[in-house]
Amino acid sequence: FRQEVLDPSEMLSSYYVLLRQIIDERIKLDIVHGRDLPQIRADRGQLETALTNLCTNARDAMLEKNGSGELIVKTSRADAAMARKDGFNHVQEGDYLLIEVIDNGTGIPPELVEEIFQPFFTTKKQGEGTGLGLASVYGIVKQSGGYVYPVSKVGRGTTFKIFMPAYVARP
Ligand code: ADP
Ligand code: MG
Repeated sequence: FRQEVLDPSEMLSSYYVLLRQIIDERIKLDIVHGRDLPQIRADRGQLETALTNLCTNARDAMLEKNGSGELIVKTSRADAAMARKDGFNHVQEGDYLLIEVIDNGTGIPPELVEEIFQPFFTTKKQGEGTGLGLASVYGIVKQSGGYVYPVSKVGRGTTFKIFMPAYVARP
């Protein structure tokens, strides 16, 4: 891991170009930049890999449901209380950059939410999924001291939330 201080808006703007090439035209793609975003300290390449894993999963869920869809990647400033509101309780106090990957695909059944981060867990047909995407996302986000979890409703869609600790420069 090669950690560096990242400006999230700058990173996402350049990442969008890559993402648009990965996600085909049936999917509408929007990036929504929040205001007053904190910097983060992370491995840029690894973070992009994690986002790509979440976005390809979102694409697959939308194509499976409708053959099309709208994918939104959204940033905002957040704090630990916001994760607790979702029932995600183990979050350290402090400021965070929140990155949300929002789809209107199939959704994740509640009984599978515990399973999806396990290596090799997949609901895809043989040859179409390795089940390693989310296990990798978990490892990458954890490495930077962050948190990742889904908020999902079957038939409606899924939002994956990544909380990355804000980087505060030491005097
Ligand atoms: P793979 O994509 O190879 O199946 P992942 O680890 O990336 O492996 O995802 C594991 C499983 O989690 C998927 O097979 C799918 O059932 C579920 N999943 C992940 N993201 C989503 C999503 N955005 N919408 C619906 N289901 C999802
Ligand atoms: Mg995947």
